[in-house]
Amino acid sequence: MTRNFLAIGECMVEMAPTGEGTYRLGFAGDTLNTAWYARRMLPEAWDVSYLTGVGRDSVSEEMLAFFEDAGIGTDLIQRFDDRTVGLYIIQLNDGERSFSYWRSDSAARQLARDRTRLDAALAASDVIYFSGITLAILPTEHRGGFLEAVKAARKRGATIAFDPNLRLRLWESVESMCASVMEAAAVSDIVLPSFEDEATFFGDVGPVDTANRYSEAGVPLVIVKNGPGEVLWQADGVPWTFQVPPVPEVVDTTAAGDSFNAAFLASHLQGADLEVSIAAGARLAAQVIGRRGALVEQPEAV
Ligand code: ADP
Repeated sequence: MTRNFLAIGECMVEMAPTGEGTYRLGFAGDTLNTAWYARRMLPEAWDVSYLTGVGRDSVSEEMLAFFEDAGIGTDLIQRFDDRTVGLYIIQLNDGERSFSYWRSDSAARQLARDRTRLDAALAASDVIYFSGITLAILPTEHRGGFLEAVKAARKRGATIAFDPNLRLRLWESVESMCASVMEAAAVSDIVLPSFEDEATFFGDVGPVDTANRYSEAGVPLVIVKNGPGEVLWQADGVPWTFQVPPVPEVVDTTAAGDSFNAAFLASHLQGADLEVSIAAGARLAAQVIGRRGALVEQPEAV
């Protein structure tokens, strides 16, 4: 029987420098990265789809073709006549990367506008994955309806996985970000925060504080990532740790957390032990950060 993994969020056009004022066009976004790796990690019996909004212009078409080529289903993606996809440019200044974004009016921001459509999409999914960035890009008046739809899907039996991915510049304020993230956590089965972000905005002193805060909000399984530090996970309130393998050379940490989440979920959803699944997450993340770019082709078996 086919099972459906649905990631929800925004994928953007990425312009990455290739030297001499030229740029390579690619596609990236936190939830898309996770869908991309999940497609590689899950067996054929799983469908992996993406829910976002795109336009009807040629770059939107190109993005859809990119999803299809990666084996990611596009049936649930909404097309908007009057909008297109967001874009960012990476610039290199003395080896330091800086990012400029054009995403404030992107089609993805409207993904929860049509509640009936959203409900139907979620109803067809066994696993629903989204992030704090997914929430942040929604107009404030769509956020409540989005979380209600997720809650209804969970009630019906879907598994909900959420990465808080705290990005303050996308939010109105620290308070609204933290409040929305805790609301999303409260409707999730699995929350996958990164300690550094959580410490910055919630004031957690150690990963155990992060895990406790989400556990107390009712999250059954919390997995706290911490860069090269140990992963702390808490299942039904009981904490455990996993030492991540050292990475010989950290080349580019882009998508470390996104790829970790994909490999973890792929393993966990197929019934593996939590420790085995966390090890799979850490192994994939180690491969991804050892190479340049968010989407690393043909990662070794993890
Ligand atoms: P995010 O990308 O969300 O900030 P983290 O930095 O916490 O996520 O990293 C996610 C996972 O990637 C970690 O749990 C770990 O497995 C792996 N990882 C990240 N940085 C390193 C590193 N320097 N060495 C080894 N593993 C790392």
